[in-house]
Amino acid sequence: MQYNLYSRIFSRVADMSAPCIRTAEGETITYGDIDALSARYANVLRNRGVVIGDRVAVQVEKSPEAIILYLACLRVGAAFLPLNTGYTAAEVEYFIGDATPHVFVCDPSKRAGLAPICERLNVDGLLTLDAGGKGTLPEAAESAESDHPTAAVEASDLAAILYTSGTTGRSKGAMLTHSNLASNAQTLVEYWQFTEKDVLLHALPIFHTHGLFVATNVVLLSGASMIFLRKFDVQAIRRHLPEATTLMGVPTFYTRLLKEDWLNHDTTDHMRLFISGSAPLLAETHRQWTSRTGHHILERYGMTETNMISSNPYDSERVPGSVGFPLPGVSVRVTDPATGAILPTEEVGMIEVKGPNVFKGYWRMPDKTRSEFREDGFFMTGDLGVFDENGYLSIVGRSKDLVITGGYNVYPKELEDEIDALDGVVESAVIGLPHSDFGEAVTAVVVLEEGVTLSEESVLRALDGRLAKYKLPKRVLFVDALPRNTMAKVLKGDLRNTYRKLYADDGVLT
Ligand code: AMP
Repeated sequence: MQYNLYSRIFSRVADMSAPCIRTAEGETITYGDIDALSARYANVLRNRGVVIGDRVAVQVEKSPEAIILYLACLRVGAAFLPLNTGYTAAEVEYFIGDATPHVFVCDPSKRAGLAPICERLNVDGLLTLDAGGKGTLPEAAESAESDHPTAAVEASDLAAILYTSGTTGRSKGAMLTHSNLASNAQTLVEYWQFTEKDVLLHALPIFHTHGLFVATNVVLLSGASMIFLRKFDVQAIRRHLPEATTLMGVPTFYTRLLKEDWLNHDTTDHMRLFISGSAPLLAETHRQWTSRTGHHILERYGMTETNMISSNPYDSERVPGSVGFPLPGVSVRVTDPATGAILPTEEVGMIEVKGPNVFKGYWRMPDKTRSEFREDGFFMTGDLGVFDENGYLSIVGRSKDLVITGGYNVYPKELEDEIDALDGVVESAVIGLPHSDFGEAVTAVVVLEEGVTLSEESVLRALDGRLAKYKLPKRVLFVDALPRNTMAKVLKGDLRNTYRKLYADDGVLT
């Protein structure tokens, strides 16, 4: 049995001349092209000494070549390790030190800053790839062989490592196996009825599970094609929507599109499916979309560690505000967070999940891995949820104070640490507040030393460049003291309540 995800994808491709990726610039890359190019990239990696089990870390802009690099890693049997393009050099240094990749591929513009880090941390190869598909990697690929045997891996061998931010301590690398990715993609292809006739409008980033695994693996495994947009842009969506059959997005895509006059029944009539995930889709957005287009957005739920867990059904009712049923082969239960006892329907508790989709553990963190799993193998997601009497799951909140802004996770502690380190700051609390566009807007509540005055602008300026842009606060508020309970814990719920209308003027909040 060949467990390599690459073999599973390409053993099914009936027509190698069929389109796989189409770019906004009008270029078409066929399955055959992808097969030949990924072999060339795989040979470049092999020539640099990459072998089964090695990590290949990648911080590059979205491009078809980045997908080819992902597939090349699968062919070599190396673990693909994509990093958010917004990470600063200091942040990247942590990931390189932790993951010890054999090769690192970065944008040419970042090479000078990253080269000394790679040298210090003994990374053997530093290659470049830019948004236009140029760089030392594609250059080396030109003279490499265009065939490459696909590595025979075990089902439990790593296909990828995706870092998730941690509320305490540093980021954790989620180890995803060939069988995790293949089984989940196959389930989604069947559940969402993808075929080779589908054309997915792909506007998500590809360093995250949503754009890389949910969107890309589903397209590849069904022999479909995708229109590959560099980023979400309403005008580009408008231009390419007529050629598409499906769209996958974060809720922000849908709230932004709803502001467009051209969005109506006629312009979306040909579409088969609109899918949303990665953050809660407001029930109101779901309803507005249906009234404007006649389509019911299909909302699904998952996370980096588990791939997709649940989905609203394809053929029956898609319930606004719900994330649907556990996917076939995936077991989901809701438990009492304190005791672990399984709770009955309609009681809120911790969502726990078990199945072939669930990751192998955190990279080099056996204790952390053990603490997140129950003895019977269920993984504790950290999300609080509830099943209704019809078996639909809803997420009611996060047990941790994660902020999800535009589909990205921001862990307050990381930003609080940066703010607290500024001159004149006593302490801070970072919260997410409702925002019609971002879902939640990162907001910092700051206490200053007595006699010190700082402006909002000066705090924002001081933070700029220290963390990825999406993690920075949209607003900074100053207070005399943070609300605390008797155990001295900051009451973030109270803060959220006090400022819940802060962004109400930025759009209609329901
Ligand atoms: P990530 O690992 O970045 O994919 O983030 C996973 C987290 O996003 C989950 O643990 C949930 O808290 C949240 N999430 C994903 N999908 C949904 C959804 N449909 N509704 C609400 N929250 C979601």
